[in-house]
Amino acid sequence: MLSSCNIIRLHKEFLSENHNYQADNIFVSIGWGGNSGIIELSNLVIIIDTKMNSKAKKYYNSIKDKLSDKTIYIVNTHVHYDHTDGNYRYNADTIFIPNYSDELWNESNRPENAIEKLPYVKVTEVIEIKQDGYTIKIIPTGQGHSYNDIVVLIENEKILFASDLFFNGYHPVIDKKIGANTKKWVEAIEKVCDEYEFETVVSGHGQVSDKEGFLRQAEYFNDIENAKNEPDKLKQVRKKYHKLLNMPNLTSFQKTVKYNNK
Ligand SMILES: [Zn+2]
Repeated sequence: MLSSCNIIRLHKEFLSENHNYQADNIFVSIGWGGNSGIIELSNLVIIIDTKMNSKAKKYYNSIKDKLSDKTIYIVNTHVHYDHTDGNYRYNADTIFIPNYSDELWNESNRPENAIEKLPYVKVTEVIEIKQDGYTIKIIPTGQGHSYNDIVVLIENEKILFASDLFFNGYHPVIDKKIGANTKKWVEAIEKVCDEYEFETVVSGHGQVSDKEGFLRQAEYFNDIENAKNEPDKLKQVRKKYHKLLNMPNLTSFQKTVKYNNK
């Protein structure tokens, strides 16, 4: 029977190097590239994002015992390689990805993960998977952090994997090359929060949060948009978000001001 409690706990296995959490059969791994998740069912394992470089290998090695004799699905929430780089290691049965052009996928990923090489399925509408009493929804959210993003909802546990629509504690990556659009990003967050019921939110980067935290990502973009032509107001907004961290060479308050609604 499923727990009605959706508290995600620290998972001891990884404590020394990596913060991991679990709720029943749901494991969350923070960092080593983008955050990842595993949903471990009786005949099926769903892996949400596969991390990058040597950490992708390390992550694969740490979870491969869960995979034997089971169908393996991977969900890539978007095209950034810090979420996809480990794909080729898994011998997956299906890899769900957003509905991008093949060119965009291949430009952003290593040759082993090319569109022709692995069993990719482009998600154009909500896909529902039911097993062991769980209902899992793979939800395309349209343009936002990229030309298309995917979030994953575990309905019974009220857990949402929000992809890089949510940077928790960091200034967000706004990568125009892959179609980032902050206006649509805000709309995507609001739509997901309106349409679906969930409490716990696993961000794409940073710690696990909740629906309010997720909505603060939309507020951040709106605050900057409303202030960007008024220096005094912008100063106040910068102060409000002074605790957010930069990702070196990638993100900062200034960069968001520059790319917001562009
Ligand atoms: Zn990203």
